Amino acid sequence: MTENAYRGRFAPSPTGPLHFGSLITALASYLEARTHSGAWLIRIEDLDPLREPPEATKQILDSLQAHFLTSPEPPRLQSDRHAAYDQAIRQLLDSQHAYYCTCSRKQLKASGGRHSNNCRNRRRPPDGDYAIRFALETETAVWQDQLLGEQRQTVRAEIDDPVLRRKEGFYAYQLAVVVDDIDQHISHVVRGSDLLPLTARQQQIFRALGNEPPAWLHIPVILNSEGQKLSKQTHAPAIDNQQPGTNLLRALRALGQHPPSGLGGGSPLQVLDWALENWQPGRIPKQSRSEGEVT
Ligand code: GLU
Repeated sequence: MTENAYRGRFAPSPTGPLHFGSLITALASYLEARTHSGAWLIRIEDLDPLREPPEATKQILDSLQAHFLTSPEPPRLQSDRHAAYDQAIRQLLDSQHAYYCTCSRKQLKASGGRHSNNCRNRRRPPDGDYAIRFALETETAVWQDQLLGEQRQTVRAEIDDPVLRRKEGFYAYQLAVVVDDIDQHISHVVRGSDLLPLTARQQQIFRALGNEPPAWLHIPVILNSEGQKLSKQTHAPAIDNQQPGTNLLRALRALGQHPPSGLGGGSPLQVLDWALENWQPGRIPKQSRSEGEVT
């Protein structure tokens, strides 16, 4: 692959404003793409209006802009992509990689995750509510993470079968992320290690849709003082758009880089220029750390 075939992306779910943990992921994916002379895309994964305050998308885009993390391509909104997800589901149903599932959470729990009443062989929409699930094949996938090295992940048919479209009619993350990575020709994914356990499942969805999966680099997540991932649910504060240079310096340090203190007198563009010249992904720490350790 030539260098400029590199296409990376930052793909936040807009459950709240950009916080320090998501700035780190945005910055790492940006630096990886730009230092490979690649494109860096922004994709808003707004699939679940019940969990997404309407103002969050604009807040995230404004914060990225304030930190000069911008893309020449306009941001993609997954809420505009329902027809593509529908088509992918149709393809997966037709090729018997997906099935209509009526099992309730309670039933699945009682049966250890096994689907009753030939659920997994159902290829026609049943009466009443149903989800659509991907039919995984049991395997132990072995693949290379670009930071964490060799990964071995066991995927269990039935028990781990991801939902592609929920009973409520919403398209699920596992489907949409793969459909859009394929459609946008993403060659390299840089994202938080909270998504690492899902990677082997996503690789099967890529292949079922006739595509080779991209390369992955998972960044260990930053934890709060209670050991939880920084997120909207754990009340991570929004990033302060008035301090972009300072925030970028903190994010670089969290990524194991050694920018000189006082770099650029707080100018975000100077910090980014330094980062593009001096980026060393091999220095990214491989363990999750608490916020206190990286600031
Ligand atoms: N939208 C996902 C999230 O915010 C990330 C998707 C991905 O990078 O694969 O957690």
